[in-house]
Amino acid sequence: RFEYAPAPESTSIVDIKSSYGLFINGAFVAATEGKPFKSVSPATEEVLAEISEAGPADVDRAVKAARKAFEKTWGPMAGRDRAKYLYRIARIIQERARELAVLESLDNGKPIRESRDVDVPLVAAHFFYYAGWADKLEYAGYGTQPLGVAAQVIPWNFPLLMLAWKIAPALAAGNTVVLKPAETTSLTALAFAEICQQAELPPGVVNIVTGAGETGRALVNHEGVDKVAFTGSTDVGRAIARDVAGSNKKVTLELGGKAANIVFEDAPIDQTVEGIVNGIFFNQGHVCCAGSRLLVQESVYDEVLSRLKRRMATLRVGDPLDKNTDVGAINSAEQLAKIRELSQVGEDEGAERWSPECELPTQGFWFPPTVFTGVSQAHRIAREEIFGPVLSVLTFRTPAEAVEKANNTPFGLSAGVWTDKGSRILWMANQLRAGVVWANTFNRFDPTSPFGGYKESGYGREGGRHGLEAYLAQ
Ligand code: NAD
Repeated sequence: RFEYAPAPESTSIVDIKSSYGLFINGAFVAATEGKPFKSVSPATEEVLAEISEAGPADVDRAVKAARKAFEKTWGPMAGRDRAKYLYRIARIIQERARELAVLESLDNGKPIRESRDVDVPLVAAHFFYYAGWADKLEYAGYGTQPLGVAAQVIPWNFPLLMLAWKIAPALAAGNTVVLKPAETTSLTALAFAEICQQAELPPGVVNIVTGAGETGRALVNHEGVDKVAFTGSTDVGRAIARDVAGSNKKVTLELGGKAANIVFEDAPIDQTVEGIVNGIFFNQGHVCCAGSRLLVQESVYDEVLSRLKRRMATLRVGDPLDKNTDVGAINSAEQLAKIRELSQVGEDEGAERWSPECELPTQGFWFPPTVFTGVSQAHRIAREEIFGPVLSVLTFRTPAEAVEKANNTPFGLSAGVWTDKGSRILWMANQLRAGVVWANTFNRFDPTSPFGGYKESGYGREGGRHGLEAYLAQ
């Protein structure tokens, strides 16, 4: 057991307004229709702010503002000048990093250690990285023709990071954007809108419309949109693909996952157990590429499981603003209900459920780190995305069996391989039908690396030069 830090991160450094308008054409404006909704802290259920719901007329205003900016300012601007704005935004994000981290943890429920050390630094890194591309498109052999207005819809698990993955490459390539954050996590997107003002970004280049699925639907279906970039569930991704079929809109979809984290008997055990824990309990398992299916070679099953349980018993679940917290709050009551339901299905189907003893707070949405053993491939907890801190463990005997089980899923976003043998890593990476394969590590992200899925995990890549290509007419 570790000592707790004396004081949690202070909320006094964030300035949350009681209500927020939409960010259209460089200004916060009132929604003309739609009912405002509340953003709630998942750790305390306290209301943080009232958020505006954008209706079709608001979406229309935002798309028109983006079109005008595309035609008059951002589109014709030289790449080196676009770069200056992106560098400026990146630097402001660094200056406001602590505030953004606290805001993200308050609104999303993730541990401050993660928002401070992972999310926000990666957000700044994405803007720096794509700023570097803005004046080098021709040199790198690309056409310099942006697509136009991008409609971008993102989920709630990495609110600010998903925004950066979407906005930074789009702007670098000369597009303008209308972005809709997820309804439970609008606050950092609205803080980003302030950052655009602070950076004196020309009006209309970035527009933020808040609201739920209907707002997203109005946005992706707007006829003034040239490109749709969506990250979220496979069901909604499918609905969007159907909605825009027949239009000229270019589409990229980053959807769900059910990643296999594969442990061979020669894997370095301590590092592997850390990797398993990071793979599934990072961000409460609200991670599209989470290592939610652990495949362990039979010969080391007992050792891996006993070490994993011992490590899980040291995880501290609680206040997201406490710097020692490892596992924060579940993002919403709906998500908690989904995790509970699928965990119950796991038990009903005969898998064995285990969680360390931990006292969960009485207010807010919480779920303990959980592992299911005795799981077979037919079990729903081995096939469906739970999107929570729940690990399903299966076993294998041979590398071929590991590949067969790992690929036995409709998803194909990521996988992990733990082994001492370099040749096996290369062989496995070729066999696994996953967009990302990590070797002796997990959940590592970098703006220079493309990320995206096979099969039901979607199509298109974000990050690296591939992420830029998604916003250029080829
Ligand atoms: P979701 O699909 O319910 O919602 C995602 C976003 O789409 C939200 O902003 C929502 O308001 C909006 N939306 C809902 N219906 C819509 C519609 N008909 N038209 C347009 N927009 C609509 O997903 P979620 O619950 O917010 O996020 C969790 C899911 O996201 C998981 O399945 C996860 O795997 C996936 N995800 C994928 C990646 C990736 O890069 N592949 C990254 C993060 C999350």
